[in-house]
Amino acid sequence: MRTLDGKVAIVTGSTSGIGLGIAEALSASGAKVMLNGFGDKGEIEAIQKRLAADHSVKIGYHGADMSKPEQIADLVAKTRTTLGSVDILVNNAGIQHVAPIEEFPIAKWDAIIAINLSSAFHLTRETFSEMKARKWGRIINVASAHALVASPFKSAYVAAKHGVLGLTKTIALEGAEHGITCNAICPGYVLTPLVEKQIPDTAKARGISEEAVIRDVLLAAQATKQFVTTAQLGALAAFLCTDSAAQITGTSLPMDGGWTAH
Ligand code: NAD
Repeated sequence: MRTLDGKVAIVTGSTSGIGLGIAEALSASGAKVMLNGFGDKGEIEAIQKRLAADHSVKIGYHGADMSKPEQIADLVAKTRTTLGSVDILVNNAGIQHVAPIEEFPIAKWDAIIAINLSSAFHLTRETFSEMKARKWGRIINVASAHALVASPFKSAYVAAKHGVLGLTKTIALEGAEHGITCNAICPGYVLTPLVEKQIPDTAKARGISEEAVIRDVLLAAQATKQFVTTAQLGALAAFLCTDSAAQITGTSLPMDGGWTAH
């Protein structure tokens, strides 16, 4: 018997990077997983088939855009009808934009707040009663070390991620007597497409080379001088879903190679 056998999980933004690592770990623990995110249709189908075959669980996919509340509601409805009531919600989808505040595009601000923060509110709102009814639930918000400290040129991202921590604490208090935990994971840098894409912009904003961005910006504060891996984050998320983690709630858990110890 695996720890999450029979449980149903939604992992947003799980067609790539950290979300995929978490979907992998939850399905390996026995959970049925509804994948979400953008990408090539064939590649997404291949991920779905691989996870289902490797872990003998049902894996669904829904392409809801996390900036659209009505698509989020449809994602939850489809999860219920195809996999069952939602037990585990991982709010992971996120985007980034790097620019000085006076040039920060207003549309990027709005999109980052919608995808990185408001989608967690909408999904929690849609799934909370069914968790309450079964007296068990796990909500994991993938925040960031940038939920705890700031960096220049990332105003929207840092604001959204700090907001995620406030939401996490509030939901933890509302769920505490109903067997529902809510926690934020705060990764340091993980070498995913989200980070790879910001290297050229950061180089431009700071007027330095891309190699210097990796060495002197991304890994400068990460004391281990290593990127965090998606498998390590997946293992932490899977642990938070176990009964051993039932008393961990309302917290922010950094996995950042010592970044926020400075
Ligand atoms: P990624 O770009 O590899 O993956 C992002 C995922 O979100 C993809 O599946 C993408 O399709 C999906 N997505 C993007 N916009 C979406 C939308 N509007 N609707 C639905 N899905 C959408 O990025 P990642 O690095 O794996 O990031 C995942 C989360 O981890 C984000 O919230 C990010 O802020 C956070 N994070 C990443 C790092 C890092 O160093 N990579 C560090 C700290 C926190």
